Amino acid sequence: MLSIIGNIFMIMILWGTINFIFHMLRIRKIMRKNENNPNIKGIKIVNGQVEVIEKDKEVFTAEVKEEVKDLVKDPVCDTELERSKAYHMIKDGESHYFCSWDCREKFLESNDEEHL
Ligand SMILES: [Zn+2]
Repeated sequence: MLSIIGNIFMIMILWGTINFIFHMLRIRKIMRKNENNPNIKGIKIVNGQVEVIEKDKEVFTAEVKEEVKDLVKDPVCDTELERSKAYHMIKDGESHYFCSWDCREKFLESNDEEHL
């Protein structure tokens, strides 16, 4: 009875050793394959599968995130400009933005003509 338990124990150790060597060989193979890959952070073993851990590519893209500017369009000269720098006018409940005072005046003149 004791010898059977001893045998099972020996097989388990042997199996573990074989698995370990097997994984080491696979890791070495993968390491060699990815030697020139600068994004490799490490290697992990999940459910007997050897996986290569790569650096997050999102880290690089996050820095390139563009600043979104709030642009408005001048209806008189079709110039696009930042909302904070534009002349703002509310007419008939609608917001209008202009690049200059002149454009604002022109807009008012043309609108008045339409009403006549
Ligand atoms: Zn303008």
